[in-house]
Amino acid sequence: MLKEVELAIVGGGPAGLSAACEASAFGVDTWVFDEQSAPGGQLIKQIHKFFGSSAHMAGRRGIDIGDSLRKRAEAQGVHVCLNTVVFGYNDGNLAICDGRGVKEVKAERIIIATGASENVLRFPGWTLPGVMGAGAAQTMMNVHRVKPGRRVLMVGAGNVGLIVTYQMLQAGIDVVAVVEAKAEVGGYEVHAAKIRRAGVPVLTSHTIVKACGEESVESVVIARCGPDFKPIPGTERELKVDTVCLAVGLNPLTELTQLIGCRHEYDAALGGWIPSHDDRMETSVPGVYVAGDLTGIEEATVAMEEGRIAGISAAESLGKVSADKAAALRTEAIGRLTELRSCSFGRYGPGSGFKPTRAADKPGGEIDLSGGLGVIVECDQDIPCDPCEKACPTGAIKVGAPITNLPTVNQSLCTGCGSCVAACPGLAVFLVDTRKTEGDKADVTLPYEYLPVPEVGNEAAVVDRDGKTLGKGRIVRALASAKYDRTTLVTVRVDKAIALRVRGIARQ
Ligand SMILES: Cc1cc2nc3c(=O)[nH]c(=O)nc-3n(C[C@H](O)[C@H](O)[C@H](O)COP(=O)(O)OP(=O)(O)OC[C@H]3O[C@@H](n4cnc5c(N)ncnc54)[C@H](O)[C@@H]3O)c2cc1C
Ligand code: SF4
Ligand code: SF4
Repeated sequence: MLKEVELAIVGGGPAGLSAACEASAFGVDTWVFDEQSAPGGQLIKQIHKFFGSSAHMAGRRGIDIGDSLRKRAEAQGVHVCLNTVVFGYNDGNLAICDGRGVKEVKAERIIIATGASENVLRFPGWTLPGVMGAGAAQTMMNVHRVKPGRRVLMVGAGNVGLIVTYQMLQAGIDVVAVVEAKAEVGGYEVHAAKIRRAGVPVLTSHTIVKACGEESVESVVIARCGPDFKPIPGTERELKVDTVCLAVGLNPLTELTQLIGCRHEYDAALGGWIPSHDDRMETSVPGVYVAGDLTGIEEATVAMEEGRIAGISAAESLGKVSADKAAALRTEAIGRLTELRSCSFGRYGPGSGFKPTRAADKPGGEIDLSGGLGVIVECDQDIPCDPCEKACPTGAIKVGAPITNLPTVNQSLCTGCGSCVAACPGLAVFLVDTRKTEGDKADVTLPYEYLPVPEVGNEAAVVDRDGKTLGKGRIVRALASAKYDRTTLVTVRVDKAIALRVRGIARQ
């Protein structure tokens, strides 16, 4: 059976759905095919709040961003076909299988947005049950509600390894360590900070040597490693774990673009082989466009912008939008893309990753509490992000342009409302308030995303940024509001002497 459509999009992740929203807004008959049972791609398991700007729904949780994109696409008449694998390409037609049978789709234009798959790492014991990709573990936890293990070693301290570790802690799983072969953490420091304060060691210049066990993983051996990533003899140690999660990079899913005959190029920094494309996202095969992680491993924010460009370009080539309007919209999207990619972690950035700019050894030391209030912002890298600024009703926090600026705080404008504490996706903002406390006490308000939420009136141990116990405090408030979107603002009363160093409450 042959189905004829104007635009076929393969992949219903942020790239494919954004492309569908753009193209359908210009009246293009748009069909999205995705093999999963729910649209959103990687977003269906991203329960954390995202970075970016309001154009990328920053500050909202990935799961909700995917849902918004799907609703907008469907409201604009996009046909979203789930449980539908696109497995072939013959004579210009896509071959699809939707569980009821195989069909061919003849599309005037095609956008491929198939995303990426996880890399693996080989070591003795890597085939034992219990060794799995971090993304697979995340799917088990957040989509299927199954704990992948009880005691886990995470291999890789990029954003995926750090985020999945945090989500494992939220699920009540014990992560014994994160090992990273490089000398520095590869992901955002704010993600690393969340797990350090929860007491999980992030061991840089360390690697996994082997996984041991008869029928499944019972332990692992890790060791220090040098710049060549080879274990240094004599530094081995054994850790009792039942699960090893591999977060060692992603690799663009190019099978379809290869089948279609698009030209590809190799770029190790972007994840390997990627389809070559122009600034309209059109490949070497006319009428075939690409977007998202398929064109290089980046972020959902980037995937959405690339999807927009591909959707606009496909609509333009179908004659649904004028060349001038399409060019203007593309220029806007390319401007936002350039801004996103210009941070240290981005495609155009220096690639240095960590860029400390504040006195790391004096946490909160620069804050003057004489006015009774102090906002501590532990966000020291030029990541593209601004929900703290958008949440502040008084303009006390500023990011400005470009969006990779570090946030600055005008303490004199702060009213202590706490909105920035709840809005920050990096959980990197803390509020110290001495206005209602007497003597040597201060109230510290923290973002809290574990269950159970500490009870008001209870005593709790408070920890510093490394998870070390600083002392005890009393919970005086636990504020959950719809506008905080499942982040609870917990206020703990502590000795003023430690208030500026408190970064967390020991989990119960
Ligand atoms: C743990 C983790 C945390 C992340 N956190 C963030 C974050 O905080 N902020 C951020 O901006 N980004 C984050 N990302 C990255 C972000 O999720 C990806 O960059 C983004 O999802 C890429 O979008 P995409 O549409 O290109 O691909 P995907 O989201 O992977 O979607 C591709 C879709 O295509 C489908 N598909 C593939 N092949 C076929 C086929 N042949 N037939 C039919 N369907 C097919 C797939 O099943 C999938 O549904 C994170 C990623 C991970 C893994
Ligand atoms: S506590 Fe409120 S007023 Fe103060 S910086 Fe944060 S958002 Fe602005
Ligand atoms: S402090 Fe601001 S810029 Fe930094 S992670 Fe939080 S919201 Fe983003």
